[in-house]
Amino acid sequence: MQIQTFTGGIFDTNCFFFELGGKSILIDAPQESADWLARENKKVDLLLLTHGHIDHVWDAAKIQRAQACKVGYHPDGIPMLTEPDFFKKFGFGWEIEPVHADLLIKETDSMPVGNSELQVLHVPGHCPGSLCFFEKTNRLLFGGDVLFSGGVGRWDLPGGDKELLISGIKNKVLPLGDDVRLLPGHGPATTLGIERANNPYLF
Ligand SMILES: [Zn+2]
Ligand SMILES: [Zn+2]
Repeated sequence: MQIQTFTGGIFDTNCFFFELGGKSILIDAPQESADWLARENKKVDLLLLTHGHIDHVWDAAKIQRAQACKVGYHPDGIPMLTEPDFFKKFGFGWEIEPVHADLLIKETDSMPVGNSELQVLHVPGHCPGSLCFFEKTNRLLFGGDVLFSGGVGRWDLPGGDKELLISGIKNKVLPLGDDVRLLPGHGPATTLGIERANNPYLF
C-alpha cells in the first residue's frame, strides 16, 4: 500500500493519503493540506479525523467543500469540531471553521471502506473522541496524537486525562502487535515494538 504524507502548519502535523478498497482516504487535514491535495491532483473520497484539535482539522471544512468528500469522526469530537469558540472558552486563541460529520465513527473491529475495512480504536485521554485507524492487511496504525516515537499525546488540553491515555495505549494499542507500523500525527513513523521497549511514558 502506497502512503503519501504531507506535514503542514506550525505544529508540523502529519496527514496521510492512500487508496483502500477502491476509495481514496485522507487521515487528518492540517493547515495547507487542501492546497497540497489540489496541487497533487488528489481526489479524496473519505476524510477521517483522528480527533478535533485545530492542527488536525484546520483544512477539513475546506476539503469537504472542495472535494465533496465524506468526513468521519467520533461523536465525542462534535463539540470541538462544530463550536467555533470551543477552545476560546478555555482561553486558547483558536477558532476553527466548523466541520460537520457525514459519518460518526465509534470503536469497531471492522468499519467498511469500499470493499475493504479499517479497525477503529477509541483511545481518549489526549482528548475526548480520539481515534486510531488500523489497516490490518498491511499492519499500519494511523495513531493521531495518542502515541509518538518516544512520546505520547499531551493530556493537559480540555478533556485530557493522563491515566486514561496511558491505559488506552497499553490495553488497546500495544496489543495490536510489536510488528505494527505506527504513523503518528506528529514526528516520524515507528513500530509498536520499539515503543513498547523504549517509550519512557509506558514504563
Ligand atoms: Zn491533538
Ligand atoms: Zn496534534
